[in-house]
Amino acid sequence: MSNILNLNQKQAKILKKNIKNFSLTELQIICEKLKIPKYKAKQIFSWIYKKGAKNFEQMSDIQKDIRLFFDNNFKISVFEKVESLNSDDGTIKYLFELSDKNVIETVVISSKKRKTLCISSQVGCKMACVFCASGMMKFKRNLDVAEIIEQIWYIKFIENIEIDNFVFMGIGEPFDNFDNIKNALQIMNDKNGFNIAARRITISTSGIVSGIEAIKNINLQINLAVSLHTANQAKRKSIMPIAEKYTITQLSRACKNYFEKTNRIITFEYMLLKGINDSKRDAFELANFAKDHKAKVNIISYNPAATSNKYLKVPNKVDINRFYNILVDKGVSVTVRNSKGNKIKAACGQLAGKIKI
Ligand code: SAH
Repeated sequence: MSNILNLNQKQAKILKKNIKNFSLTELQIICEKLKIPKYKAKQIFSWIYKKGAKNFEQMSDIQKDIRLFFDNNFKISVFEKVESLNSDDGTIKYLFELSDKNVIETVVISSKKRKTLCISSQVGCKMACVFCASGMMKFKRNLDVAEIIEQIWYIKFIENIEIDNFVFMGIGEPFDNFDNIKNALQIMNDKNGFNIAARRITISTSGIVSGIEAIKNINLQINLAVSLHTANQAKRKSIMPIAEKYTITQLSRACKNYFEKTNRIITFEYMLLKGINDSKRDAFELANFAKDHKAKVNIISYNPAATSNKYLKVPNKVDINRFYNILVDKGVSVTVRNSKGNKIKAACGQLAGKIKI
């Protein structure tokens, strides 16, 4: 144990690392290097993710000098809640401040059947989709693994809310932060970690083809959602700049490869913008695209965002039903998302890293 204490002194001046950045395997390697029994890593991991330990002091079945070593070298928490807002439909929006003072938002969406956590993946977003408030926020940086994981940890252990489904649909583009998302998924799914079944996790992408190609190889049965919003390349380019880098043909190929490899049905998210992508022809194009990919479609009504473009219009119920019925007639498996959290600017596309509304 003396070498641990020596290391303590040597490392005393080094900034503490956040333990939530490390997978169980990485913690086991750290323990091995320090000649701490490997099983201690599993104990520490369980203390954090199963019991919600907020400090090393609490870890009563771990020897004091090992606890002290971890306390000197690692921290457990990464952010502070600045504020939370409750909507009358049960949605709660949290604003978290990170250690560098940047802020992110995390949303709990409640329905009768389940609670869903909407997780952010970046501070700001580079995608610049014309309809999305997050894209209007300047991109600052990727969230690290700990900051992604902490959103889940905080809601579970500090807010005491049990979540059923986890969706990467908060601020940011998850596949623009691929490695950290991949490592966070591992901690989420690890049976010694949060032990969340992969089927309860959904990643939503604006269409980063490299990410779709890579995620199919990680061997986790997660759900993939693609924000399609139009099956027409020219139109897509005009509302989603990412379509210039990755055309709809490339996107289509990647989705087909994904389905072939994983056998998992993709959901195409389709946000209806009145007069832009809600015509009969748009519906036909979408129906053909969805059927060609054996995919589901989820229709979302446009939520006017705080920074929204005045040319973008919200469809009414009649528009939505007309569009929906065409897809049903064409034999597409389609649902309409009941948007929540609008009043507190917590709905899709409204997250902009600020709480004042
Ligand atoms: N960057 C990822 C995840 C974040 S957005 C993605 O693009 O998929 C989550 C979902 O909300 C996406 O389908 C996105 O296109 C949609 N969205 C964005 N702005 C919206 C708005 N103003 N109204 C409705 N949905 C919106």
